[in-house]
Formats: sequence, C-alpha cells, structure tokens
Amino acid sequence: MCGIVGVQGTERAAETAFMCLYALQHRGQEAAGICTTSNGRAYLHRATGLVIEGFNDTVLAGLPGETALGHVRYSTAGGSGLVNAQPILVRYHKGDLAVSHNGNITNAQILRQELEREGALFQTTVDTEVIVHLIARSRQPTVDEQIREALSKLVGAFSVLLMVGDTLYAARDPWGFRPLVVGRARGGWVVASETCALDLIGAQIACEPAPGSILKIERGEVTHLEPLEQAGDPAPCIFELVYFARPDSRVWGASVDRARRAFGRQLAREQPAAADCVFSVPDSSNSAALGFAEESAIPYELGLIRNHYVGRTFIHPYQKGRDFRVRIKYNAVREVIDGKSVVVVDDSLVRGTTSRGLIALIREAGAREIHFRVASPPVISPCYYGIDMPTKAELIGATHSIDEIRRHIAVDSLGYLSLEGMHRAVAEFGPFCDACFSGRYAAPLVDLEMGRPASTRC
Ligand code: SF4
Repeated sequence: MCGIVGVQGTERAAETAFMCLYALQHRGQEAAGICTTSNGRAYLHRATGLVIEGFNDTVLAGLPGETALGHVRYSTAGGSGLVNAQPILVRYHKGDLAVSHNGNITNAQILRQELEREGALFQTTVDTEVIVHLIARSRQPTVDEQIREALSKLVGAFSVLLMVGDTLYAARDPWGFRPLVVGRARGGWVVASETCALDLIGAQIACEPAPGSILKIERGEVTHLEPLEQAGDPAPCIFELVYFARPDSRVWGASVDRARRAFGRQLAREQPAAADCVFSVPDSSNSAALGFAEESAIPYELGLIRNHYVGRTFIHPYQKGRDFRVRIKYNAVREVIDGKSVVVVDDSLVRGTTSRGLIALIREAGAREIHFRVASPPVISPCYYGIDMPTKAELIGATHSIDEIRRHIAVDSLGYLSLEGMHRAVAEFGPFCDACFSGRYAAPLVDLEMGRPASTRC
C-alpha cells in the first residue's frame, strides 16, 4: 500500500506535495519521494523513512517548479530500500517521465518478461517500472496515446500519477480498487490518495475520478482523455473503509469515520455482549468501537493506550519477541479494566498475533471477562490488489475455526461482523471488492494463474 500526490499549477509545488505526503504518512512509512519539473528539467529527492525525516527546507528548496509528484511507500515483505522508492524518474524521447503508483498490477511479471525479451533493462523490482517501459516503448504518436496504450495493457489495481514535463496525468484502473481524489488549491490542482491530504492544504474537493478515468492537467486546465475500457463492475477496496484510510478522510464517497461506526453498530446487532464497558484497539478501531458502544448502550472507555512514538525499527537489545513488541506499542488502563467484563473491538484480525498479546495485557490489568469483537469478517484470502497481507497459510481466519481462534487468543467470546452485515452497513457506497473476506477476486490474477511470483507491490 502507498500514498500518492500530484500537484499542477501552484507555486513551490514541492511544498504542497510535502504537506500532502505528511497527511498520507499512514499509507507508507518505508520511504518518501518528491519529483518536480521546472523549465523542462526534472528534480528528484527520495529518502527512506518518514516524510519528516527525508525532507527539510533545504531539500524542498532544491525541488523547484509548479508541477510535482509525491509518494510514500509502505513496508513490504520483499524489495524494500531506496532502490524501490518512488516516484520513478526516467528520461525518454518525449522528455522526463515520472511515475507514482498505488496498487498492484496482477500481470506485471508477464509484461516484465515480455519487455525484458525485447531488451528492456529494469532497475527495480516494483511493478510500477513496467508502466514506465510500456510508455517509453509505445509507438503511438502522442504522449496522451502512449499513456493510454500503456495503461490499457495493465490488469489489476492502479491509481497512478504521471508527470511528463509540466503536464500531470492521473488515472485509475477500470475496477477502481484504490482511491484517488482531485482538489483545487493555491490556484492549481492537487490529486491525492485521500481527502485528508487536501484538507491539510485547504484544498476544495472537486471530484473522485471514476474507475478507468485518465485525467490530463496542464496549465491549470483539466481534460478527460478517453477512459480505459470497463472490465467488469467497479470494485473499490472495502478494506480502505475497514482499516487503511484515515477516519477523517472521505473514501468512495463515504466518511471513513461514519463507515466504521456503521460497521460497529452492525457488529453490536449481530454479536451482542453483556459487559461493563467497550473499548477499542487504538487507533484504527476507535470509530467501530464507538459505533458498537452507541448501538449496545454500553459505556465507551479508553481501556488501551497506544504509544505513538514507537520507532519502526525499535528492537530492545534485551527483550525481543512478540509480546514485548505489543507491550511497547500498547498499555492497558487498569482503572478502566480491573474487575470488569469488557468488550474489546478491533477493526480486523489478520494473523492473530497482536490480538493474543493484547488480550494477555488486558487480563493482567484485571479483566473479569473479555468479549472480543471484530468489525469485519474473517480474513481468509490474501490481497493481490495492493494491500500487503501475509500468505493464506498465515491468515488465522483461513486456517482456524472461530472457536479455535477464540481459544488461541484466549477470550471468553469472539464475534465477527458477517460479510453480509459489512456490505449492508455501507451499501449506499458500494459495490466493493471484498476478496480478502470472500475469496472472490474481481480482476484476474494473471501472474498467479500463470505460476509467476508476484512482483513487489506498492
Ligand atoms: Fe481491499 Fe481486500 Fe479487495 Fe485487497 S482483496 S482490494 S484488501 S477488499
């Protein structure tokens, strides 16, 4: 998973991109990058770590121009480090070309092998580089047509921003898996993964491009190129609402906070529990826990506190291991929990390892009964559309029954939101992709079906 931003037609576009990336930091902490164009020349800076670690006034002053692309990259199992950071910048026959991508192209390996056979040299392991080569090798006469031809060869998930000279292009795959929103700010245009980025710079939200859209933004004007062919029903990612997006964003037309509250309310109707208080696994579950508390009329408390200053690479030299990692990140509030029957609401359960450590923490704080409630269905299948998830064998929902999971995490009762209930809660904004919960994949998994290992996603 990644966060992307594009800016066109504003003074010091790099500063605007920087602010937007700062707001999108939750979408990727492994690396950050900004590329700008000024007087026909591209400038690029990328760094590992957080946006604030990689950029300062001096770095931003070295990124001149009124057009910028930015990217924050999420940690993935393979292919980490600066070499796979974005934006990717190449010089091709039409000028400098930069790309920022969020998603996962499910035929990237097949395309890559074809391109390599034709002589293309790849510098990274990310699927985004395939887009660059497809554009550079296109025989279409104009940049617009080259970009459209390249994108039409891709299968899978891509919200992508491209910069060719001072022109910005923004496109979404025909299923619309990953979010993208367009706003007006500072006399120009800003395109970003989530509305929270636009809010930070005071932008006015203009639109969410439809699945398959290709927008061209040049000299302050937006034009719509011929869209990509529709390949099926739209399938925006419901996991953005469950967990990934910031609760103050609007995604798929829905307030993320309101969607999570609706999941929590539906969960309370489907999986009620008699308890003294409800609390969340902070922070992504706060809204769902509030919804659960509202619906069940059980007091909402702050039973767990999250430490926001845990570094990504923090490893204590003497106390390694899973439980210690949970303890670094969370602490239980004994005054809330001691002697009580509690409902703990989490947004999702993927491996179950964190939950087990958290439950041990809550027991130690004196909980009499623990009723664990999950505001989404069991995760039973990996995501191939851009959210980094473990393999099926590591997904506890795919390998254990609900009662086995209850015993594994050691709670008195365990209840999940049903698949139908999840859809019902946000029905007015759907239909959605729910493949990780249902195993039904909307876009073909081309590489997988051909026995090719997936490329490093973004
Ligand atoms: Fe989102 Fe799950 Fe679909 Fe991936 S498989 S796009 S995480 S709903």
